[in-house]
Amino acid sequence: MTTSAPLHTIDLIRKKRDGGSLDPREIAFLVSGAADGSIPPEQLAAWLMAAFLRGLSLDETQALTLAMRDSGEKFSPARLGKAAVDKHSTGGVGDKTSFLVAPIAAACGLAVPMISGRALGHTGGTLDKLEAIPGCRTALTLAEFESVLARCGASIVSQTPALVPADRVLYALRDRTGTVENPGLICASILSKKLAAGLDALVLDVKTGSGAFLRDRKDAEYLAALMVATAEDAGTRTVALLTDMSQPLGRSAGNWIELAESVEVLRGERRSESEDLRELSLKLAGWMIHLGGKAATPELGYALAEASLTDGSALQVFFAMVSAHGGDISVFDDPTTFHKPGATRVLEAWERGYISEMDTTALGWAVQRLGAGREMAGARVDPHAGIEFHARRGAHVDKGQPIATLYATSAALLAEPVELLKAAIHFSEIPPEPVPQVSRIFTRETAEVHLKGSR
Ligand code: URA
Repeated sequence: MTTSAPLHTIDLIRKKRDGGSLDPREIAFLVSGAADGSIPPEQLAAWLMAAFLRGLSLDETQALTLAMRDSGEKFSPARLGKAAVDKHSTGGVGDKTSFLVAPIAAACGLAVPMISGRALGHTGGTLDKLEAIPGCRTALTLAEFESVLARCGASIVSQTPALVPADRVLYALRDRTGTVENPGLICASILSKKLAAGLDALVLDVKTGSGAFLRDRKDAEYLAALMVATAEDAGTRTVALLTDMSQPLGRSAGNWIELAESVEVLRGERRSESEDLRELSLKLAGWMIHLGGKAATPELGYALAEASLTDGSALQVFFAMVSAHGGDISVFDDPTTFHKPGATRVLEAWERGYISEMDTTALGWAVQRLGAGREMAGARVDPHAGIEFHARRGAHVDKGQPIATLYATSAALLAEPVELLKAAIHFSEIPPEPVPQVSRIFTRETAEVHLKGSR
């Protein structure tokens, strides 16, 4: 067939279904059909499932990433006069580091043009969390995005019909069709947003463990190497940190309660249950500050990041950014008064012993089913639904001790999540082995070696 022969979506679905590889022209055809609505959702969903089951080659993944990046307008941070850096995570439970790293990096003199996502599968979404603040808008025009960045240094926005529209459509479809956990689709989704933001440097937080989309360590390493190599080939300096998701990050998972916890850390308050969140955020921000040219090493970047928490400058940037997005920051005056869940249930330990293991994916589904996630694309989420964890992996608890508080939209939504938690949390007589928070770092060089080894 000649390269100018007309393309038909049904042929591309059948080709992928039967194990074939699509060329860049075929991939660009699907992506532009997703972006402009000319391919209907049922055909896109069928192609996504075929790609999920058959897998995407390295070439297909790179073509998909670039086609999705180019599916709409792009942001150019050049006029801001600062290095533009960002961080993106592959998705976790209670993962709220964006609310810390974006203002920290901005307080250290960098621009953070962050294009984010909504709840996806069992994981929460930065945009859903941010929109828990009354009035806070995340669908900005490019001009508004630039204006917030110029005034505040950081802005967190959604994909829109103009900005990475293909990811806007495919992301929502993947959320509802069980097609999230695939390295090629994750790589294209994340990097299309990051490359469309015109970044100078990017830090990827690739999760591994029971709450990660790719639970298996080898799969997570492949994803990290794939994303670093793809982003570097596209001209963005990138590193990936492989980080632990064998339990929720910090003490809360939901929408409003995650913001409240983040602001507590930004305010310099220290609680042992939020220390892992603070520590990971400082490490990620340290890398952003280093790659953005403000510190000679990531360790010196960490020190600058920590100073921005201590002197309150990161908190100031966060409040300025939320206000610039139309958000009412007075709700942070007393975060507990603002928190109004429809129903609450305290879960007590049903055994005595060490919390040895958590099926964090199941915990994430419990959070979504309390009302924090959506059953249908475009549905509203409950800002107040979620779970606060009172005991972490490795903690010793007595039978009857409260280990979690569940917040639901209504009492009828509590039963299933309670059962999910009971099946997901395990106790033992001996403490579990500690897991390192960051177990590996991929740079361009190590990513390329890794990919060669896995071919
Ligand atoms: N974050 C994204 O933006 N996309 C994914 O597929 C996973 C995490």
